[in-house]
Formats: sequence, structure tokens, C-alpha cells
Amino acid sequence: MPTAYVVGSGPNGLAGAVRLAEAGLDVTVLERADRIGGGMRTSENTLPGLLHDDCSAFHPTGAASPYLQSLGLERHGLQWLWPEIQYAHPLDDGSAGLAFRSVESTAEGLGRDGASWARLFGPLARQYDALAAELFRPVLHVPRHPLALARFGPAALLPATVLARRWQDPQAKALYGGVAAHLLGRLDRPVSAAVGLMLGAAAHAYGWPVAKGGSQAIATALAARLTDLGGRIETRAEITAYDQIGDADVVLFDLSPPAVARILGERLPQRAAAAYRRYRFGPGAFKVDLAIEGEIPWRNPDVGRAGTVHLGGTLEETAAAEADVVAGRMPWRPFVLLGQQYVADPTRSAGGLNPVYAYAHVPAGWVGDATDAVVGQIERFAPGFRHRIRATFTRGPAELEAYNPNYVGGDIATGRNSPVQVVMRPRISLHPYRTGAAGAYLCSAATPPGAGVHGMGGFHAAETALADLEPRRERGNA
Ligand SMILES: Cc1cc2nc3c(=O)[nH]c(=O)nc-3n(C[C@H](O)[C@H](O)[C@H](O)COP(=O)(O)OP(=O)(O)OC[C@H]3O[C@@H](n4cnc5c(N)ncnc54)[C@H](O)[C@@H]3O)c2cc1C
Repeated sequence: MPTAYVVGSGPNGLAGAVRLAEAGLDVTVLERADRIGGGMRTSENTLPGLLHDDCSAFHPTGAASPYLQSLGLERHGLQWLWPEIQYAHPLDDGSAGLAFRSVESTAEGLGRDGASWARLFGPLARQYDALAAELFRPVLHVPRHPLALARFGPAALLPATVLARRWQDPQAKALYGGVAAHLLGRLDRPVSAAVGLMLGAAAHAYGWPVAKGGSQAIATALAARLTDLGGRIETRAEITAYDQIGDADVVLFDLSPPAVARILGERLPQRAAAAYRRYRFGPGAFKVDLAIEGEIPWRNPDVGRAGTVHLGGTLEETAAAEADVVAGRMPWRPFVLLGQQYVADPTRSAGGLNPVYAYAHVPAGWVGDATDAVVGQIERFAPGFRHRIRATFTRGPAELEAYNPNYVGGDIATGRNSPVQVVMRPRISLHPYRTGAAGAYLCSAATPPGAGVHGMGGFHAAETALADLEPRRERGNA
């Protein structure tokens, strides 16, 4: 039986491991941390009984992922839970853009911009599965759903700020701007519209659910599937040199490209080694978990019904803050993503206290304390919030990188979303998962389709490895 090692137990590592085990390989996952899951871990960071997602929180890409869907993870305890409003974007005048799963309800709330919202997102949401089949893979391939791509492509190539010109009022512009800011990059550059379109359409097609009990439940379910198939997982197993891995037919690395270059050393062909070392990382995040008494006192009460709340003011303000962090300047009011997962999943709260999840976009490697800036952005739209805080836990870029070395400089996307790296990552190549070293593959968020909990990088890397293994197996049998 061919053997495989998977280094790193993030969603891509675990999905890749499951795919290899399904194909009959003897699979072992090696994870440096004492718990599996990478960006899917959940912890009682503030007070006992309050469950905070350490990293990923909302799972449009998880629910829509073709491979995760195929695994039936519900059989292993995974349960998606949806808030009534998928994401909200409050403004200073007390108004807010609200995104429902229903395109029609969303459009209704956007007044004169509603029809244009429905014209853009309605068809994308209806064709989402076809679109996902095209987008959750390397860009260079023969499209099987050209019509879905034709609808998405021209708009996706625009800067987000240009696409937003189709709306007249600040609510619709800001609602889209908040989703577009998940790019973690400049919103006035070509192709910056793509992430907002993809996640915005997913909100209507699949919603932005949370996992009951925390994102850790996704890792637990994937691990259960793997062990059912005979796979093994070792924690506290940090790999720093290839010799630690021993002989294996296949090795998948759920790691950053520079880390893989260090581990593979001379085994990596020079061109790939140079490209991996040149791989660029994006801005950082500053994570703030808060335990609060009761609910967040939103000025606009509808915002309290949303799972995700984008706090960045108008689209212009959000775009300016994002441009600052890309340029290495900490904005006075950074873009903040707030999660109130407990709205959909009350099991995360305890004794009248609720866990609030927030992070600000900050410059790469920034060393300051953004706690006040984050709390200030919440207070701006929810006066009195500060007085409800009972405990705080923070992780800046350096702590995020110590928690998971894939977040270089605090970059939660494991790679800058520049136009080139959105389209081609980790390097310009027809084979993004092959490292060039025999049997060694890259499968992390540094490969297509990029960041997010979807496992598709792991799935495609495993498929590539299996295709490469086939002739080697045949030669062995001959
Ligand atoms: C604050 C934050 C918020 C986020 N929000 C969301 C969200 O709401 N929705 C969403 O879909 N995504 C979100 N993400 C992004 C998502 O978590 C990542 O894109 C995803 O986890 C990447 O998966 P991966 O498998 O590539 O690697 P990771 O999840 O990064 O896992 C890599 C694993 O490799 C291990 N490792 C590293 N080096 C070694 C080594 N040398 N030896 C052995 N093991 C090693 C790490 O410990 C880790 O377990 C967020 C991330 C952060 C940090």
C-alpha cells in the first residue's frame, strides 16, 4: 500500500488526507500544534464556557465546497447553523445595509439600489454551484460552465470601487464594500471586485453559516472521516526538515511556500525554490475576543440579527483604510470584522455572557495594540458597548504567526491577494500543487483557490498526487 504524509492539519491538509485515504493510501497527518484544525480551532479564550473561534468563523466556502459536501460531514457531527441576517454593515446615521439569504429581501431593504443588487447577485446565486466548480480550482483550465463564468468574469476583473458605482446610496455601496474587504488588499485595483462577488453570491446561495459548537467541529468531523478510512494523526509533530518524514510515496504540505522551501532544501528545483522564497504575504490581522454581558447595543437593532458585521463606515472609508494597511500605515479607524456567532449558535454563550469575535486589518507585522481601535469601531455603531465588556483576549500579527506559522506577518490569507497572486498562486505555473520535488505537493491556502475553509486546495493537491502516482504504480507492477 503506498504511503502518504500530510504536514499540517488545516482544512486543506485534512481534506487532502481524506482524499488520499479514500484512494487507498496509508495516510499519516503530522501537526505541530497540540490540537488539530489549523484555522478551524475554537477556544475558551476569555471566560470558561464562552466558545471563541480562534480564526475562521463563517463558512460560506465550507458550505459551498464541492469536496466537503461530498464527504457528508454531518454524519460526523458537523451541523451548520445560520443567522437570520448573513452580514450587516451599519453606518453613522443609524442606517445599515443588511444581506439576507433571500436576494429579494436584501433588495427590498436597499431601496432604489435593490433592483441593481438583485440583477448582479440573483443570477450568480442561482448558478453558484456551476460557478464554484470553476472558481474552486486553478484559474487555467478548460471551463465546463462558460456561461456562469461569462457572467462572473467581466465584473470580477473590475476594481471593487468601480463595480460599486452601479449603486447610488451609501448603504448598498458599503454593504458590498464590507464583503469586498475580505480580499485584504486595495479595493481600487483590478480584480479586487472578485472576492466580494464570490462571497456575496455565496451569502445568497448557501448563506454564511457557523458550525455548531465552533469551527473546531469541522476539523473534528474531517478527522473522524480520516480515521474511519484508517488514517492517523500525530500532534506536537513539527516538521522542519524533510529527513524527519522518512520514506513516503506522497507528501502534502499544508504550509506556506517559504516554509516548504526550507523543508525541501536541495530537493526543490531552483526555479520553484526561488518562486517560493519570493512569494508575497499580505497585510496582517489583530484579533480581539471579548466576553460581554448581554447583547451588543447596536444603534440599529437589525444589526443584532446578523452573524457577521462589517465595521468600516462608507465604502470610501473602507477603501482608504485598506489602502493604508497595504501601504504599511495603521489607519486611525481600521476595517473591523465582527462576529456574533452566538446569534445563530447559543451553545457558545454561558450564564448571560456572550462571546464576541472581532479582528481589524492592520499592516503586515504591525507591532502596536489595536484593542482600543477595535473597541472604538464597535462603540461607534453600538454606543455603550464598552461598559458591557467583562474580559478581553487579543492576538496581534506576531502572536497569530506564533499560533500558526502559515500566517506570516499576521497574514490570515497565507498570501497577498495582489492581482497576480489572486489569479496564479503560489507561482506562475500550470501545476500549482506540484513542488517539482518528486512526490511532494503544496496544498495550503497558498494554492488555488486561496484562503478560506473549503479544503479544495487539499483535494486538488491529492488528486494531482494520485494522478502522478498511477504511472509509478504501473511501473512498479510491471
Ligand atoms: C482571524 C482569522 C479569521 C478567519 N476567518 C475566516 C472565516 O470566517 N471563514 C473562512 O473560511 N476562513 C477564515 N479564515 C481563513 C482560514 O482560516 C484559512 O484560510 C484556512 O484555515 C487555511 O487552511 P489551510 O489548510 O491552508 O492551513 P491552516 O488552517 O493555516 O493550517 C495549517 C496547519 O499547519 C500546521 N503547521 C504549520 N507549520 C507546521 C510544521 N512545520 N509542521 C507541522 N505542522 C505545521 C499549523 O499548526 C496548522 O495547523 C480566517 C483566518 C483567521 C486567522
